[in-house]
Amino acid sequence: MTVPYTLAVHGGAGTIARGQADAAPYHAGLRAALAAGEAALAQGGSALDAVVAAVRALEDEPLFNAGRGAVYTSAAQHEMDAAVMDGTTLAAGAVAGVRTLRNPVQLARTVMDSRFVLLSGDGAEQFARDHGFEAMPPGYFHTDHRLAQLHQLQNEASGTMQMDHAPDPTAPLDETRKFGTVGAVALDSAGHLASAVSTGGMTNKHPGRIGDSPLVGAGIYANDQSCAVSATGSGEYFIRACVAHDIHARMAYAGATLEAASQAALAEVGRLGGEGGVIAVDRQGNIALPYISAGMYRGWVRAGEVAQTRIFED
Ligand code: ASP
Repeated sequence: MTVPYTLAVHGGAGTIARGQADAAPYHAGLRAALAAGEAALAQGGSALDAVVAAVRALEDEPLFNAGRGAVYTSAAQHEMDAAVMDGTTLAAGAVAGVRTLRNPVQLARTVMDSRFVLLSGDGAEQFARDHGFEAMPPGYFHTDHRLAQLHQLQNEASGTMQMDHAPDPTAPLDETRKFGTVGAVALDSAGHLASAVSTGGMTNKHPGRIGDSPLVGAGIYANDQSCAVSATGSGEYFIRACVAHDIHARMAYAGATLEAASQAALAEVGRLGGEGGVIAVDRQGNIALPYISAGMYRGWVRAGEVAQTRIFED
């Protein structure tokens, strides 16, 4: 039996920018990711193929904090995390602290097919070379606006408040304070669920810091019994609240709906002092896109329907 496929994507959550916003490029980036994922689903591809295709598109778009355009660590370098999970087999693959991968999500997909679940740092880079992944130079990931954000945060932290490098806040969400992880969740026409996530982490993060994104059960989870989840937000809180698995557990053990389970898990993040959002789809094709911040870059599409993208409530 086939079911209508469903796909949702996100490009991070955060506070509203104070400047003159131009939302069009963000909507276009989300639409391009939906188109890439939907192309896989429409051809009968798996949910896993779709989420990887959608996240690759977001990694290649410099507006989002993943792959090209990833944020800078306090040492002015890039350290990226990514993960994928297959809801049918509960197979998962993740990488943390990778520095040269154009598409960290693709390396996570390759790790999933190995005997490992999570590889980090130099070992992950070695694994990438062994599997034929090209090493991109640091300049590939650079964007002026991310470096300006790092300088702004470091200046604020040191109290000097030199705003000469401050970015022009033309984005709808305040890019200096926004969580910019990208992600995708999908239900394919065979009824299988999958999730993917990719991030540069948080601007000015300590070298070696790893967030929720590559941690199964925190920033990502997928299980055909319940739902597929991909998160964005203050990673330390999402780790402590085991957000993605909590949503699955509330559905599987307590019979909660996708919407109620997602809201409850995020409420716990809020109670701890964190913020952010999740995208989630269940085995019936219901979609939940809740966030506890001013807005979240997000989009979704179902078989036979026109793709939708949103940033705020409207
Ligand atoms: N959750 C990510 C992290 O903590 C950040 C983000 O969503 O932008 O690494």
